[in-house]
Amino acid sequence: MPNKNSRAQHQAIRTCVVCRQRYAQDELMSFFFLDGKLVVDLGRYYQTRKRYLCSATECLNAFPNYRRKLAKKTVSSARKGELQ
Ligand SMILES: [Zn+2]
Repeated sequence: MPNKNSRAQHQAIRTCVVCRQRYAQDELMSFFFLDGKLVVDLGRYYQTRKRYLCSATECLNAFPNYRRKLAKKTVSSARKGELQ
């Protein structure tokens, strides 16, 4: 469990797409979809809407299903001109 240190609140908190648990952004792998393809955002280079995945084994195992669902959703929003 995270301790209740008030400094922890300065960290960006993100939600894992699979388990919906909240983690500090630094603990999560970030990724996004570009033309329907999954791109892992290693260098935080892209300024786009990102999703996050934690490192729990069950989340990694379940991820392919979510990936398919998310890719579908993201492609339809990309058609509205969100991406170049
Ligand atoms: Zn997770």
